[in-house]
Amino acid sequence: ELYNKILELKGNIRVFCRCRPFNIDEIAAGASMAMDLEAAKDGELTVKSNGAPKKTFKFDAIFGPQSNQVDVFEDTAPFATSVLDGYNVCIFAYGQTGTGKTFTMEGTEGARGVNFRTLEQLFHIITERKGEYQYELSVSVLEVYNEQIRDLLVPGTQTGVTTKRLEIRQVGEGIHHVPGLVEAHVNNMSEVWEVLQTGSNARAVGSTNVNEHSSRSHCIHCVMVKGENLLNGECTRSKLWLVDLAGSERVAKTEVQGERLKETQNINRSLSALGDVISALATKSPHIPFRNSKLTHLLQDSLGGDSKTLMFVQISPNENDLSETICSLNFASRVR
Ligand code: ADP
Ligand code: MG
Repeated sequence: ELYNKILELKGNIRVFCRCRPFNIDEIAAGASMAMDLEAAKDGELTVKSNGAPKKTFKFDAIFGPQSNQVDVFEDTAPFATSVLDGYNVCIFAYGQTGTGKTFTMEGTEGARGVNFRTLEQLFHIITERKGEYQYELSVSVLEVYNEQIRDLLVPGTQTGVTTKRLEIRQVGEGIHHVPGLVEAHVNNMSEVWEVLQTGSNARAVGSTNVNEHSSRSHCIHCVMVKGENLLNGECTRSKLWLVDLAGSERVAKTEVQGERLKETQNINRSLSALGDVISALATKSPHIPFRNSKLTHLLQDSLGGDSKTLMFVQISPNENDLSETICSLNFASRVR
């Protein structure tokens, strides 16, 4: 309750910055730090810049290399679980490839990320509320690649193979729907786990290089919640979107041609459309350009209004990545 009041006062958009640790190769190469993370207090991050004046960026939270998945989830959980109170929620991971977007959202076997932890927490709360509320949860897993939507829960769908093309339809005032998209009912974590596995296995199918493909597509999990207040019969329907975005790194046009160029243009288009939409919402602009990309069109009902948005801006600590880091931080300051 109090948390929601605070949200009202501050608006519904939050930006968290997460910096990954140096990896083994960077340590071996004696890489130097691009920022002083010890000094990143009160949500302010100051980055080095070659010659130019240092720049400071403000965030709602900063997670340095020492922060683990539990620390990150602690601050994310209130957002994510408000879907059970009828809020629509979008959580994004944005950043250059290799900065930990997938680590934050999906995590690893030994260090589960936001997706898994959120579902676990939802079931926990549902159990606590038994007798007062009743909930039904379902999960969809999809991918947006080259402005095409692919259902990762349909067996046999392949990258680049036009088996079934999914479209977004408006079915009512403020209600968008993707007809035919699989919504898998989940009653417990083992069913969730199965769905998550099916989704991530399908992602690999048909791509010669899984890592490369996943860095050029948006991977989206949608948790749909039907809630009923058993005391007064009130019903709610809400959605939680968990989005591992395509890599934001700039690719020189001169370096890519053909398919790669089209891919690059589609990524740029959808990421800048996302930035445009969130910053239009933050400044309460009368026109919100949802239709400029598949991603924003898909998420339209869950962006703005009293929906909640959380953006993780993922960055590298390496000074060699500084120019990409600054681009990501600039993107973040636009949406905040
Ligand atoms: P992205 O999805 O942005 O391309 P990944 O999530 O694949 O990046 O991260 C790249 C590598 O760095 C992976 O091996 C990942 O496990 C590791 N990594 C990223 N962030 C962290 C972190 N905060 N702590 C430990 N390892 C991390
Ligand atoms: Mg990734």
